[in-house]
Amino acid sequence: MTPHDWDGRLVRYPAERAARYRASGAWSEQPTTARLHESALAHADRIALVTDEATYTYRELDERTDRIAAGLAALGLRPRDPVIFQVNNRGATILAWYGVLKAGLIPVATLSQHRRHEIGHISEKVGAVAHLVETGLSFDLVGFAREIGDGHPTLRHILTIGAPEGQPGTVRIEDLGTRIDAVEARALVESIEAGIAPEDVAVFQLSGGTTGVPKVIPRIHAEYWNNGRYYAGTFGWTEESRIAHLIPVIHNAGISCALHAAHSVGATLVLGTPDAVASFPLLERSGVTDVLIGHGHYQPAGSTAFDPVLKTVRRTVLSGAKVPPDLFAKLDDGDRHWAGQMFGMSEGMFIVTPLDAPEAARRATVGLPIAPDDEIAILDPNSEEPVATGEVGELCCRGPYTIPGYFGAPEHNATAFTADGFYRTGDLAALHEFDGRRYVAIEGRIKDLINRGGEKVNAEEVELLLLRHEGIAAAAVVAMPDERLGEKACAFVVAASGAELTMAEVQEHMDGLGVAKYKWPERLVWVSALPQTNVGKVNKKVMRADIIERLESEAREGERT
Ligand code: AMP
Repeated sequence: MTPHDWDGRLVRYPAERAARYRASGAWSEQPTTARLHESALAHADRIALVTDEATYTYRELDERTDRIAAGLAALGLRPRDPVIFQVNNRGATILAWYGVLKAGLIPVATLSQHRRHEIGHISEKVGAVAHLVETGLSFDLVGFAREIGDGHPTLRHILTIGAPEGQPGTVRIEDLGTRIDAVEARALVESIEAGIAPEDVAVFQLSGGTTGVPKVIPRIHAEYWNNGRYYAGTFGWTEESRIAHLIPVIHNAGISCALHAAHSVGATLVLGTPDAVASFPLLERSGVTDVLIGHGHYQPAGSTAFDPVLKTVRRTVLSGAKVPPDLFAKLDDGDRHWAGQMFGMSEGMFIVTPLDAPEAARRATVGLPIAPDDEIAILDPNSEEPVATGEVGELCCRGPYTIPGYFGAPEHNATAFTADGFYRTGDLAALHEFDGRRYVAIEGRIKDLINRGGEKVNAEEVELLLLRHEGIAAAAVVAMPDERLGEKACAFVVAASGAELTMAEVQEHMDGLGVAKYKWPERLVWVSALPQTNVGKVNKKVMRADIIERLESEAREGERT
C-alpha cells in the first residue's frame, strides 16, 4: 500500500533502506494500534496502566480505546485528521492517545504549556482538525482552544479530558463511545487499520528546533511501535516489569521509552507527573522496577524522598545531562541497583547503556544505539568528513526509526541531513572503547538551544520574538546554569532608545505574543552592544562565560551577607 504523501511534504525513506528494514524485521507491516491489540490479547488480565486516579488491565484499556475510536469516528473525524494534544500525564491522556490512533487520526504531540505562538503555527502547518485539551488547569485551555479555532482554516472539534461535565461545543473523551457495542467498535477499528499503509504517518512529534519555530517530526507506523519495543528489549523488560514515568508522557521519550515500550511487552506503566516528589508515593505503592529520570529530576532522585521508591527499583536510567558522580553512586550500588544512561531525541535515535555495559561505560557514556540497523557517525561539524576515532565531532545518525526529513521543511532538510541521509543532531560526541565496543559520550552541543529541565528553548526563536518589542534593538539568548532545571534562558539585550525595559515589561511582551512561558527569558542583561567575534559575529561564548561569572559572584556575595 502506498502511503499518503501530504502533497510531497512527507519525506520517505529511500527504497533501498526501507527494503532493508523490512527484511531485518526493524519495520512492521502492521499499524501501531494493531500491535497494541496483539499485546492486549496476550496479556489481557495483566495491569497495563496505573495512575493516581485509575488502574486499567490490558483488556479494559483495549476495549475502552476501541470505543473511543468509534466515538471519534461518529463525530465525523476521518483517518489522517491531525489532533492537537495539549494534555498532561493523566489516565485519560493514554485513553485519548490510543483512541485517536485507533480511529486512524494523527496525534500532534504539543505541550499543555504551548500558547498561540506555537499552536497557531503548528495547527495550520499540519491542518489540525481537532484540538484535545485538559481542563481544570490554572490556564483555561478550553477558552484557548476556542480562540485558536476561531477563523482557523481546518480546526472543527474541541475534545477535553478531565472536565466534570460537557461544556458547550466540546466533547469529553471520557464520554466517547460508551454506548457503542464493543464488537462493533472492534470491527470498525480493524477496518480503519486495514486502510493504513506501513509508511503512513502515525504521529507528529515536535523538535526543539534549531531555527525559527518548532519543526514537525513525522513518525510512521512501520517504525514507531518497534522503537518502543527495541527500548524495552535493551532492558530485558517482560510482563513482570513495572515501568515508572514522570516526565511529560506525550514527549517522544514518554511515548517510546514508557508507553509503547511497556505495552509492547505486556509490562505495567506507572504514570506519575513531573512533580516528582508528589509522585514518589505512587511509585512506591506500585513497586516499580524501572524508572527514567530526566535531568530536571536529578535533584529529587538524589534526595531521601526517593529512598522508599528505591526499595523495589532495579534499574534507573538517567538522561538529558551529565550525571553527577554521587547521584550515579547512589543509584548504582553494584548489587540490587543498576544505573545507566540514555540519549534520545524526537527525531528518532536512542542511544542507551545496555545491561551488560561495564560500570565505567555506564558512568561516562550514553551507550550504544538500541537497534541493530542503527548507524552513527561522528563528523566534522563543518563538513561530512568523519573525525579521528576518539575525537569530538557532531553526532550524526541514520536508522530504521530516525526520520529521513522533517515535515514540509525542504530548506531546513537540505542542511539538517548529510548527502547520504544521516541526521545531523547538533550535539557533540566522541566514541570511547570499553571491552571492544565503542560507546557514545555526549560532549556538548553546537545547536543554539537551552535545555530547560528537558524542554528545549530555541535561542533564535526567542531572539526574534524579543526584537518585536520596539524598545529592544538587539538580543542574544544563551543558556545560564540552573541547579534545579540544568539550564535557563538568559537574554543579553540592547535598549533601542537607551531606556532599559523591566522584566515585567518583557514578560508582558512575550505574553502578548502568545509565547509559552517556559521560553520566556528568566534573566536580562542590558548591554550597550552585543559582544562580537573578530569576524563580526555575535559572540555567545563570551556571553555564556559572562553570565556564569555574574552568577558566581552573586553567590559569593550571598554567602558573605
Ligand atoms: P528532544 O527531541 O526534545 O528529546 O531533545 C533531544 C535533544 O536533547 C538531543 O539532541 C540533545 O541535545 C538533548 N539530549 C537528550 N539526551 C541527552 C543526554 N543524555 N545528554 C545530553 N543531552 C541530551
